Amino acid sequence: MTSRRTRERLIARLREKGIANMRVLDTILATPRHLFLDEALSHRAYEDTSLPIGFNQTISQPYTVARMTEALLAGGPLQSVLEVGTGSGYQTAVLAQLVDQLYSVERIRPLQEKARSRLQRLKLYNVMLRHSDGGMGWPEKGPFDGILVTAAPAEVPPELLEQLAPGGRLVIPVGGDLQQLKLVIRHDDDNYTTEVLEGVKFVPLLSGLVR
Ligand code: SAH
Repeated sequence: MTSRRTRERLIARLREKGIANMRVLDTILATPRHLFLDEALSHRAYEDTSLPIGFNQTISQPYTVARMTEALLAGGPLQSVLEVGTGSGYQTAVLAQLVDQLYSVERIRPLQEKARSRLQRLKLYNVMLRHSDGGMGWPEKGPFDGILVTAAPAEVPPELLEQLAPGGRLVIPVGGDLQQLKLVIRHDDDNYTTEVLEGVKFVPLLSGLVR
């Protein structure tokens, strides 16, 4: 169930759904999603679906991971990227293989610690994790040429817009019951454009820390 054929079926499905970036597809093929789930659910790891990871949170659907990663990378190579919502660490692991340096923040400490050991096991050493409220970004490490958010705020947090470098790209779900996946590009200081990519369903971006 974690065989190459199972994983290749997932890749075929992502291609059918419109994912075209071969680097993204190859990275998803190479990333063992079953290691990011509890054993009881690992047999479903290569289904194209989100699954529970505890604390009322979910590992993102592979299609969504692919779509967001593709949108982030579409402007060219990325040096420094911020991820908000480490969760299981799966999206983190995919992204870490495609950018130079990745910073990822998570508000639930036990999820962060599990993600940390998985990323170490996969020898992904270009990731720095922090236990914090990602709605604030990570100002000390910014500006970033990419920011990817995996939980939905009601509005785009201004802190994240401020921490985008010129030319930088922000991929973020926005809304409540009905959410839109948005791509915001900062062209220069005060010139931002926003494109709606598609409808999505994410857990909400929450404030406050869980220890
Ligand atoms: N990409 C993750 C998705 C996890 S779900 C994965 O595939 O596993 C979204 C995550 O965002 C949850 O772990 C949740 O705790 C986290 N989150 C929600 N609000 C946050 C905030 N303000 N700061 C940091 N993380 C947050």
